[in-house]
Amino acid sequence: MFNEIAHDYITQYIRALGSVRTGVMLEIEQEIAMENAGYPIIKPEVASLITVLLAMQKPENVLEIGTNVGYSAIHMAKSCAAKIKTIERNEKVAAIAINNIKKEGLQDRIFVIEGDALDILQTVQTAKYDIVFMDCAKGQYINLLENSIRILKTGGILIADNVLHDGVVAKSRYNIDRKNRTIQRRLKEFLWAITHNENLISSVIPIGDGVSISYKK
Ligand code: SAM
Repeated sequence: MFNEIAHDYITQYIRALGSVRTGVMLEIEQEIAMENAGYPIIKPEVASLITVLLAMQKPENVLEIGTNVGYSAIHMAKSCAAKIKTIERNEKVAAIAINNIKKEGLQDRIFVIEGDALDILQTVQTAKYDIVFMDCAKGQYINLLENSIRILKTGGILIADNVLHDGVVAKSRYNIDRKNRTIQRRLKEFLWAITHNENLISSVIPIGDGVSISYKK
């Protein structure tokens, strides 16, 4: 068996090598498993990659776009000493995230900003982030890109999750459902833009649902 990005047995093997989560992160994983909901949080192999990037970058300021219930923000806060701002437009999940962050005692380092990232990014005046982690509506990545690059420090890293959208991005548009064609076109535009931007050095990695990493020169 294999999903559209990696063979299941390889993914399972890599996950078995990973660390065991505790506290709120474990609770969130268990709730998701029980509800048999999709998997709106970062996958374990993506979490490991982010841990490595944070250890290398030693960021002071991280911006996350797409908080959901706070799983990845808590993961990042536990992986480095940075201050983390995280943007969420859905009030209901933002409130759950704030509660989860408090339960972990991380309210002095993780700040949830409620609203649409498209509006909020425009209000950031300076290039002050060492890491921008994009994990929101995939169709908006291309619209968020210019401001995400602008607010990154030189030497900063833009990470984007779910950029291969279950492999759909790499298929011929005639082999995918009509409903996926817009998302495919927008993600392709995003991936083209980051790999052809003279201020970025980018790599697209087929783990999880696809992750891109871009270094700002
Ligand atoms: N990063 C989270 C984690 O791994 O724990 C998961 C984020 S989930 C995949 C995507 C979230 O982004 C959703 O909660 C959604 O409401 C939010 N979102 C989507 N588009 C957004 C936007 N333009 N501005 C702010 N939040 C957005």
